[in-house]
Amino acid sequence: MKEILKRRTDLIATLVFVLAIVAMVFLLRKETAQPVVEVTGDGLYNPGTYTSEVTGMKAMTVTVTFSDTAITDIQLEHEETPGIGVPVCESMPAQIIQLQGLGIDAVAGATLTSNAILDGVADCVAQAGGDVEALKAITPTVEQEEDQEMTADVVVIGAGGAGMAAAVTANQEGKTVIVIEKTSQMGGNTALAGGALNAVDDGSETALAHDDSVEFHYQQTFEGGDKQGDPELVRVLVENAWDGVEWLKSLGMEFYDGVFTVTGGMWQRAHKPVEPEGSGFFKTYQAYMDENQGITMQYNTKAKELIVEDGVVVGVTCTGPTGNTITVRANNGVVLATGGFGRNVEMRMAANEETHMWPTLDESIPSTNTPAITGDGIVMAEAVGAQLVQMGNIQLLPLGDPETGSLSGNIEHSVESRIFVNLEGNRFVNEGGRRDEMTLALFEQPETTMFIIMDSDCYPTGDEVNNFNETINDLVAAGRAYKADTLEELAEQIGVPAENLVASVEEYNRHCLGGDLEGQPDEFGRTLFTDAEEKNNGINNPPYYAAARVPTVHHTMGGVKINTETQVLDTQDNPIPGLYAAGEVTGGIHGTNRLGGNALTDTVVFGRIAGTNASAFTK
Ligand code: ADP
Repeated sequence: MKEILKRRTDLIATLVFVLAIVAMVFLLRKETAQPVVEVTGDGLYNPGTYTSEVTGMKAMTVTVTFSDTAITDIQLEHEETPGIGVPVCESMPAQIIQLQGLGIDAVAGATLTSNAILDGVADCVAQAGGDVEALKAITPTVEQEEDQEMTADVVVIGAGGAGMAAAVTANQEGKTVIVIEKTSQMGGNTALAGGALNAVDDGSETALAHDDSVEFHYQQTFEGGDKQGDPELVRVLVENAWDGVEWLKSLGMEFYDGVFTVTGGMWQRAHKPVEPEGSGFFKTYQAYMDENQGITMQYNTKAKELIVEDGVVVGVTCTGPTGNTITVRANNGVVLATGGFGRNVEMRMAANEETHMWPTLDESIPSTNTPAITGDGIVMAEAVGAQLVQMGNIQLLPLGDPETGSLSGNIEHSVESRIFVNLEGNRFVNEGGRRDEMTLALFEQPETTMFIIMDSDCYPTGDEVNNFNETINDLVAAGRAYKADTLEELAEQIGVPAENLVASVEEYNRHCLGGDLEGQPDEFGRTLFTDAEEKNNGINNPPYYAAARVPTVHHTMGGVKINTETQVLDTQDNPIPGLYAAGEVTGGIHGTNRLGGNALTDTVVFGRIAGTNASAFTK
């Protein structure tokens, strides 16, 4: 009897539970259901002009005009990044109108902008009563073109920083050049970089004022990479860095006066271009190509295999924009400049097995890189006998956007004025330490997630921009950062225990304010605090801000082995005739840890050498 009663009670409890779930699902569905607009006429849309507010890199207004059967006009009001988002804002509306559909891929490297446009138009379609899903199913149809052969003096694979430096240099040597680029635009990771590059003009007033020299740049680069970089390559990097800046200036690129320390750069020797992020490089290279004949940009073309004849690399086989085969031959040399492998999960996991530098590099770890950075050049070079070096040296940053892995959305302005807390509201690391140490500590935290916590000292108006041209006001409006008048409210918004967050901030403030610290150094060894002499010090000036960050794969320091002439070496250290490489595709320059500001120097210095030597190569 007792048993039957118990079973019946269990049954009733189960029934009540199921009914509760059904009711909840129903209520939730009701709340989230989209209002459906009926089309009143016989056409596809209710004619008119509709507007949608979306967020790309910044807030964007998308205005779409419909006739009863077609999308007739798309206007964007935006402040996207020149050289990255702006070209997409110019090309994508026309593409959508031509296609009368939304099945268009986001442009690599400008996914936030692309998706914002697609979302905005989709929203307007819904407002006009159109069928969004049907439009998403319409994709551009391409008819496969005939296979094709192309020839130039020099062939460059990859139109990022190193590839374009090589292409322009080869052209200055009087050569015709074909640049093969997998995506629809130049830029690669270089376009997303902070933009600043390290270079010392030895003996100049600037160098003397900052106690800097080429030798010091050498030492810091070599030692910063735990002495694993090839000393000869490091020397080439630092000795040609300033010449690289002068070359860029001679091409019309503008830099701010003076030098500064880029995060992780160790010293004040970074030169900041006037244009945001890496866009100034590509504006400069494009301007050169507009003025000079002889460089053909072959976009939407993926290099697949190097062509070797009698032991000499003579060209490359590619897949063209319509899936056709394009064979590109070089009269002189071939330059490999396809970047690293930060977005190739399998490859980075295998490389990490060599060093166990990181607990994991599986697909749960995002990357700052564009989706095109998949190590293609490394695979192609290895297939023709190239030696790979230090593949396990992979740099991560603790500052990735949790959704995209990008460095955008970063709210910090200076190392001294912010703390990191975990999901328990507790600090866990010296926030002024090495990037790898901070990232490793972050791996140990719950959900591998932290929040940057700051006050308003760096944000007197909220309109100050970060490297990505974003303001804290934009980020808060987009739900990518949090703002509150008290730490308790901030804790509630970000879901961490208020008492812990308050205690973490109070302890940090005690150090900033020079409180009773005798014999009580910072628990994590932090030494960089806001200056106690300054008016605004500590985190005590509301409103307070927070933004979530996760580890993100940033730079792969390993790759194809080269010599100082950028010739690719085989497993016996002999040059592979005809094949040159520059930029992140190469390995062994930066050792275990690449200094901030040295990647762009690398692209310019080694890109130029590769361009010169590939031009001089004869079979
Ligand atoms: P670096 O800093 O070394 O110049 P980037 O990341 O800036 O490297 O640029 C590398 C470029 O190479 C990107 O534009 C990328 O799209 C391109 N790329 C990568 N793989 C291929 C490939 N298989 N064929 C053509 N281009 C490629």
